[in-house]
Amino acid sequence: MPRPILAEISHAALAHNLEVARRARPGQKLWAVIKARAYGHGIAHVLPGLQATDGFAVLDIVEAVAVRESGWRGPVLLLEGVFEAADLEQVHALKLDLVVHHEEQVRLLEQEAKSSASGNGTLSIYLKMNSGMNRLGFAPRKYRAAHERLQALPAVGSITHMTHFANADAEMMSSLSMRQQLQVFEQTIAGVPGPRSVCNSAAILNSEAVNSDWLRPGIMLYGSSPFAHRSADALGLKPVMTLRSEIIGVQNLQPGDTVGYGSIYRAEQDMRIGIVACGYADGYPRHAPGDNRQGTPVLVDGQRTRMVGRVSMDMIAVDLTGLPNANVGSAVTLWGQGLSVDEVAHAAGTIGYELLCALSPRVPVSIVA
Ligand SMILES: *Cc1c(COP(=O)(O)O)cnc(C)c1O
Repeated sequence: MPRPILAEISHAALAHNLEVARRARPGQKLWAVIKARAYGHGIAHVLPGLQATDGFAVLDIVEAVAVRESGWRGPVLLLEGVFEAADLEQVHALKLDLVVHHEEQVRLLEQEAKSSASGNGTLSIYLKMNSGMNRLGFAPRKYRAAHERLQALPAVGSITHMTHFANADAEMMSSLSMRQQLQVFEQTIAGVPGPRSVCNSAAILNSEAVNSDWLRPGIMLYGSSPFAHRSADALGLKPVMTLRSEIIGVQNLQPGDTVGYGSIYRAEQDMRIGIVACGYADGYPRHAPGDNRQGTPVLVDGQRTRMVGRVSMDMIAVDLTGLPNANVGSAVTLWGQGLSVDEVAHAAGTIGYELLCALSPRVPVSIVA
């Protein structure tokens, strides 16, 4: 028997969260973002729950192939575009939509136009503007020239204007607001026709007015909040992944006894602790605190308790002192139903995105309705 750890993935929760995205910005189409193994859930595991989407956005050809192999014939968008000329053959063969964010990618398309007759106007381009985040995209003063060069290519059918926000989740004034980036974006594309795609989860769920056609929800589909100060629950999102395990050992401690590597937790009174089959090799964050001052929340038999001691590769320890009925075999929830991944992430000084993406492929997955 394998160790009793399991990631449950709910298709109903995925479908529900997709609907929350749709209702938040009515009339827009959705790219369900499934990069990074669908934020750790596994592309094949989430696709059935997201069939109501208009398209899937992925990072590279490998992920695109996984989507096509699942039987999805609708749109698939390559969020970072192509990395080399050979990728373009795959783009045509798999009928992929394409982000173009750099001059070099325009050049690859022009080169292809010279060497082949792939001029049937089928390519759908997302031309990415760097409106202030300074990650990917054309600077505003170079954007229109890139647009003209792409439009001149016979293979290109449509060009969607695209940008990405640095602070759509900001609760307070930030040095680069979503509104400022939108202004740069709008000014640069003024008079240039074409659909627009600008909103990630945080931008979908905030109250800023946006003129756009294609949304790009990622984290919200998985039931995690993009905001530090608004819970997934308050946003109407349902957790998709519930990471479950069991107690596999129990220890009784006396005052002064310590727990685990580094002995960072010291019992101040008689205590019972449980050993849980889940560690950093499963994706549980090693920096989650378990010293005497601060613990990380964990559910045992549905009851809230805390982690004690340092996270090891395959195990953590939890306080069972207030849970006299808990014993070997008791059910443990690391995050998901009843305990938001965002709360665990917050305790560990990170965000839900990182915990979900880091789920180890060694953890078996089970699909629930
Ligand atoms: C990852 C990504 C998204 C989704 O972002 P979330 O914050 O997870 O909603 C949207 N757009 C682009 C370009 C991305 O890379």
